[in-house]
Amino acid sequence: MSRTPIIAGNWKMFKTISEAVSFFDAVKGKAEVAGVESVICAPFTNLPALVEAAKGTSIAIGAQNLHFEDNGAFTGEISGVMLKDLGVKYVLIGHSERRQYFAETDETVNKKVHAAIKHNLVPIVCIGEKLEEREAGTTKDVCKVQTEAALKGLSAAQVADIVIAYEPIWAIGTGKSSTSADAQEVICYVRSVVAELYDQATADAVRIQYGGSVKPENVTEYMSQADIDGALVGGASLEPNSYIALVEGAK
Ligand code: PGA
Repeated sequence: MSRTPIIAGNWKMFKTISEAVSFFDAVKGKAEVAGVESVICAPFTNLPALVEAAKGTSIAIGAQNLHFEDNGAFTGEISGVMLKDLGVKYVLIGHSERRQYFAETDETVNKKVHAAIKHNLVPIVCIGEKLEEREAGTTKDVCKVQTEAALKGLSAAQVADIVIAYEPIWAIGTGKSSTSADAQEVICYVRSVVAELYDQATADAVRIQYGGSVKPENVTEYMSQADIDGALVGGASLEPNSYIALVEGAK
């Protein structure tokens, strides 16, 4: 089963509109490599300009969050209807920073995954253990619970088309990346959880990224692992040459 590798930049709360557009001008034509999907997940304010800049390129644009309702009295929130209307293709869901600082739970993550799919957005669903969970030896249990909760109520066909990002929280923004063998072991396990919940064909189809201190120097090492289908990258996705190298490294 061949899965197209996917590199997704997670810009977090970085870049004004003009900074986003100059980044895009610098990577256009370069962070476009045959056989690799390239995605930029930007702050909401940058999305219209980036969708416009990405026209005619193979780079897809993603948001970093959405609300699970289509509209309503939810001050400060953005819905799937609005993202779809903008021309956004991907949306990050349940990033650990959202779980940690914005009270996202397995339940809201699941609602958001359903909302994204309803509006034909591809969710990139983030899972991963805390340092104390890793030290307690419960990494796989935590990832299983999060995966089962996130996928609740989805059909096999829907799961086959989503992206899961395994991001050990202790590796995010710390420079302490998981070893590629460790990341492979957990991702292979998450795939087996999907096979148990659905079937082997669905597990073989779903793309699972590694995230946490990925950079141009280590991306190829992760990509050489059988079950790792790409990377979700924060810090190293902010600078054009670094982002181009990440996409090239995923070939
Ligand atoms: P990092 O962030 O690459 O800066 O570790 C990854 C992420 O938060 O998605």
